[in-house]
Amino acid sequence: MRLVSALAVVILHVAGALASTCCNQLQQQLGDNLSFPNDATYNATVSSFWSMQESGLRPACVLRPATVLEVSKALEILSGNVECEFAIKGRGHAPAAGFANVNGGVLIDLATLSSVSLNQDSSVASVGAGAKWLDVYQHLDGSGVQVAGGRNGNVGVGGLLLGGGISHFTTKVGWGSDNVVNYEIALANGTIINADRTHYSDMFHALKGGGNNLGVVTRFDLATFPQGDISTTTITYNISQRADVFEAFTKLLESPKYDPLASLITSLLYRSTTKTWTLSSSAVYTKPVTQPAFYADLFAIPHETLVNNITSLAEYADEKDTFSFNWNFATTTLKPCAENLQKMFDTLNDTIYSFNPEGGVTWSIALEPLVAAMLPNSGDTNILGLERAYPGFVVLISALWPNSTANSEVEAKAQSVLSAWEADAKSKGLLQDFQYLNYAAPHQKPLHSYGKDEFDFLKSTSEKYDPGRILQRNVGGFKL
Ligand SMILES: Cc1cc2nc3c(=O)[nH]c(=O)nc-3n(C[C@H](O)[C@H](O)[C@H](O)COP(=O)(O)OP(=O)(O)OC[C@H]3O[C@@H](n4cnc5c(N)ncnc54)[C@H](O)[C@@H]3O)c2cc1C
Repeated sequence: MRLVSALAVVILHVAGALASTCCNQLQQQLGDNLSFPNDATYNATVSSFWSMQESGLRPACVLRPATVLEVSKALEILSGNVECEFAIKGRGHAPAAGFANVNGGVLIDLATLSSVSLNQDSSVASVGAGAKWLDVYQHLDGSGVQVAGGRNGNVGVGGLLLGGGISHFTTKVGWGSDNVVNYEIALANGTIINADRTHYSDMFHALKGGGNNLGVVTRFDLATFPQGDISTTTITYNISQRADVFEAFTKLLESPKYDPLASLITSLLYRSTTKTWTLSSSAVYTKPVTQPAFYADLFAIPHETLVNNITSLAEYADEKDTFSFNWNFATTTLKPCAENLQKMFDTLNDTIYSFNPEGGVTWSIALEPLVAAMLPNSGDTNILGLERAYPGFVVLISALWPNSTANSEVEAKAQSVLSAWEADAKSKGLLQDFQYLNYAAPHQKPLHSYGKDEFDFLKSTSEKYDPGRILQRNVGGFKL
């Protein structure tokens, strides 16, 4: 026993020494932008993660690069020492521990690279990879154009686009990543390249869903489209109306002509402290139409509240961020079936109704259409393998809770609900392979879910541009 703890001390000592070697090497070249535990800048970065699981990790140092060249220099240094573990942080909204932060390693916080500009003919917006979506929408507000990005303005441009990116405009222009026309990216060895349809086209394709496996993206150039005000409607129903809501939701998914201006999330919310369920639909229409006919069936169901606003994208995305909670995300994709949604509700209710750890848990289940209109129709296709996953809907099961001692219990509950849903859906032929990377739990395999050809392509592209496998071995997240 004494030998084991002595060994543990030696290992910790060696790990600490390695981390400080990596930080020291960075400090020699990039000193001004490096911060250490208890520095104000270090604390600001570490406390800006969305989940407590991420903000609970303690990197040995934080680099906030001022320029793209500094990102390049940092990667050159870090890849020169195979022991240097590091993390890449956009806006820190991936909840799982170790996806954009690292205990004892180097954290590269890209928030400093967040400039936004629009080219002369307003066709392309260039966005620093550390921007959040609100920066982009506010910059473009009033210009007559917008881009396809996150619905919540606090979410990072980097993480969202590298995992795919569902926006209010997905039925109109495809996924966020389909609309990237050029990536400026620092490869693992520090080389900076620009990948577009004709240059480094394999890299260009792989970045449309490949996560943080290809390099550190420093700038995204995004195709814009004309956009004015939008219409937003939130409807809440008594949970007893769920059969009708599931029926209407399913009917919309199956409609032969899905309205390309319609963006819908139907959600269930459960609070364990009060044992109350809430059912709602957030129906956005990307033109200023007060009651879009497409949602008529959802509007017709008796509801408790219905709030409609005509507003701008920038205003709607300006949400208050919720910090200081533990969060868990997990996902699946299913074929439309109202009866199955009823069964899913029953399974969920049976599993979580009486589970109330100290401080409580709030569960949210978001159902998001995945219809033919969301398949890429341009040459800039993503790598998500969606052709095999529609019609259907993406399910995000998330939980938030304040009490960290309940982490493993909440995660186990989420996993057990998900397994029961998937086993049941599979037996009925309703399970799709696709797992959306940006909603997936660490135990899931979203990159594999794209399909064998897509996975093999990602793997070979990563081997071509990162032969030392630095991003596979030394950086956390979903790996190849
Ligand atoms: C409140 C909330 C709302 C959301 N809304 C949406 C939505 O509307 N649509 C949607 O599709 N998803 C949505 N998501 C999911 C979101 O897309 C993911 O959480 C995404 O990973 C967040 O990106 P980030 O940059 O903030 O996160 P981070 O945690 O900083 O990064 C996520 C991952 O991407 C990597 N990464 C980030 N930037 C770079 C870069 N420049 N180069 C290389 N790797 C990088 C990180 O290493 C990490 O593994 C939402 C999430 C939350 C919490």
